[in-house]
This record gives sequence, C-alpha cells and structure tokens, in this order.
Amino acid sequence: NSFEKFELNRQLLNAVADSGYSEPTPIQDKAIPLILKGQDVLGIAQTGTGKTAAYLLPILMKIKYAQGSMPRCIIFAPTRELVIQIDKAIAELAKYTDLRHTAIYGGLGPKTQIETIQKGIDIIVATPGRFMDLYLREEIKVKDLKIMVLDEADKMMDMGFMPQIRKILEVIPRKRQNLLFSATFPEKVEKLSEEFLEFPTRVEV
Ligand code: AMP
Repeated sequence: NSFEKFELNRQLLNAVADSGYSEPTPIQDKAIPLILKGQDVLGIAQTGTGKTAAYLLPILMKIKYAQGSMPRCIIFAPTRELVIQIDKAIAELAKYTDLRHTAIYGGLGPKTQIETIQKGIDIIVATPGRFMDLYLREEIKVKDLKIMVLDEADKMMDMGFMPQIRKILEVIPRKRQNLLFSATFPEKVEKLSEEFLEFPTRVEV
C-alpha cells in the first residue's frame, strides 16, 4: 500500500486500507507531507479528488490521541451536509484511534451538540454560524486550538460567511496551523487566504 510512504501511524494506515484506498490521489500526494511538516496549505481541489482525506490524515496524525477537553482542531464547512460528510470521513479514518469528534450545525436545537462537547472533544466540524453561537454561549473554548481548516472556501464566501469567519479569526489563538481548500480561486478567496494563511504552500490538482 503506497500510503506507507507517508509518516502516518499504523492506526491510520489500517483505516486507510479498510477504506479500500490503495494509491494516494494527486492532492493527497502533495498535501499530506506539507501538512505533516506543519505548513499552512492552500489547496485548490474539487470534490471527488480525495481532498478530505488529504487534510484529515495528517491532522489525525498530529492530533493523535484524545487529550484534554477542548478542541485542538476545528474544520469549517459551508453546509450541514458537508459538515456531516466530513465528520463521517473522520469516523472512518480515526476508527482505530480514541479521538473524539463531532459535527456542529444549525437547523436543530443545540442541546445534543452541547452535551457531546461537554464530554470532551478533540475535533469539531462546524458551520460558521452554529460554531459562533456555541462559542458565544461559552460552550466551545478555543484556547487549545492548533489546527483550523476552511473547506469549500469559495462556497463559504458565496454564502456570505466572510463576516463570521473574520469574527472567528479574531477570537482564536494566533499560533496555529491553517489549511484552506477551495474548488475555485476567485478574488474573494484569494483575499480570504491572505488574511487566514501564513506563508502558505499552494497545491493544485
Ligand atoms: P473527496 O474529494 O474528499 O470528497 O473524496 C471523494 C471520494 O474519494 C470519497 O468517497 C473518498 O472516500 C474517496 N477517496 C479518497 N481518497 C481516496 C483514495 N486514495 N483512493 C480511493 N478513493 C479515495
């Protein structure tokens, strides 16, 4: 299995094998080593390219074990459907780890989501609006945050999430790793990437 060439641990490699992935996709080949090294990455890749696993695998490798009670990684996505899909991908790839993860989105009451977070959480996948809501209620604390991801950034901009993303950037710790994925790279995403990423490496497929 040619995922073995990456510095991933046995738990992750076994989960990759269970998923039936035998070869990394081009975005995975390019992005996984960069993210493992701790770089900020700007990924231009569409759905279907394997972009989700391209950022999840190195993130899971870095976060590794359940630790503390507050999230060390937050992944933002524009829609409830995508948030649920990303959380499912985490469930699949992190199945041999003890990492705690959950999907946070609007459209239903926050009670169950709050209860899940209160038990302790390592990775949160969220829509920006519901995240801010729970942050302002002090149900999510960000002091341990190490890695932040914006997935489908172009769609997030189209849906008017920029003001919320700005507010989020104001409250989270400065020293962190940032990853931005977008299917297209119009001017507003370029501007967002300038605000959000520090000396990013651009990968494109
Ligand atoms: P994504 O582009 O992240 O939406 O992924 C598209 C689909 O490709 C998902 O169903 C993944 O499970 C699958 N996938 C991701 N990486 C690989 C791989 N290396 N080999 C085969 N399928 C993959």
